[in-house]
Amino acid sequence: MRRRRISILGSTGSIGRQSLEVIEKLADRFEIIALSAGNNTELLNQQIRKFRPKYACANNINEVEGAEHTSLEEICSNKENDIILVAVSGKIGLKPTITAINNGIDIALANKETLVMAGDIVMSLAKAQKANIIPVDSEHCAIHQCIKDASQVDKLIITASGGPFLHKTIDIMKNATVEETLQHPRWNMGKKITVDSATLMNKGLEVIEAHHLFNMDYDKIEVVVHPQSVVHSAIEYIDGSVVAQLGIPSMHIPIQYAITYPARYEGIKSRSFSFCEIARLDFETPNWSKFKALKLAYECGKTGGSMPICLNAANEEAVFSFLDGKIKLFDIIDTACKMVEEHKPVFELSVDDIFEIDNEVRIKTKEKLLRLR
Ligand code: MG
Repeated sequence: MRRRRISILGSTGSIGRQSLEVIEKLADRFEIIALSAGNNTELLNQQIRKFRPKYACANNINEVEGAEHTSLEEICSNKENDIILVAVSGKIGLKPTITAINNGIDIALANKETLVMAGDIVMSLAKAQKANIIPVDSEHCAIHQCIKDASQVDKLIITASGGPFLHKTIDIMKNATVEETLQHPRWNMGKKITVDSATLMNKGLEVIEAHHLFNMDYDKIEVVVHPQSVVHSAIEYIDGSVVAQLGIPSMHIPIQYAITYPARYEGIKSRSFSFCEIARLDFETPNWSKFKALKLAYECGKTGGSMPICLNAANEEAVFSFLDGKIKLFDIIDTACKMVEEHKPVFELSVDDIFEIDNEVRIKTKEKLLRLR
């Protein structure tokens, strides 16, 4: 059997490293065409020695050893690839993803910004080019696994762990330190997304992603808090039948699903799932007044056009500022709210427009953040 040819954008990040652990378990099924990293050249070089990709790229390209030097754009226009795992974080993922889709290459998508910033463009392009987009994000991966006939789905039910402040008072949350915020109870992820999970902005961005991926109205996307993170998401069919996807909370499973789709292998599976071990599953309505980010994201999604771009850019700048210890946790969402209020949405955007708006919002957000200190 021919091995599946894959490239990984963001191989030294959290998803990238876990994807290589999956590939290591399925070594006879994959051939790595290219690995790309940001600044962690040391780890990239270790990965190159171990996985022997043909090509590699990084910010400090001259320090990359053992593979032919390349760029993100070149990786994504290389038709040797059967699939590209987009696991870079931030807007840097958008252009390469569009290039790959234009070349008819399937995408395993772990980059939120791609759909939040350019969902309309990316999804219509993927349809035209017949490129599959298989979500890596555990909730969307769950929904992808549940859907048999999209035309008969009435509602998407996205679960949220609720993060570290789920049952803490607003006062505790207001004064939370960076360390407390980074203590996620269920998932082991990068810093930015962990902060977003604590404010539920992550869930808000996931609602926008789900709207694009599954072409579903916002009114038909429901968020349910489920602290155990065992039910990864569900769908309700028009006849009232609900299909959910369950599993232990490990990113290895959705990563493996996305890069091996439609095949399934034992691969990374460590142990069998046990309902009895879990014993109970809890569900509750999100606290909308404590987690304002969620409502804000729904509103921005419904407005559409450039509004989600503004939300994403303002939130990200504010999260960086929080991680630097310069603002409080609640300032993140307050700042995002103000930026959204001031933003006049623009519609019918090109990719260049998207980057321009993103840039403008970031500059304005940084000015606002300076005044907060
Ligand atoms: Mg998720």
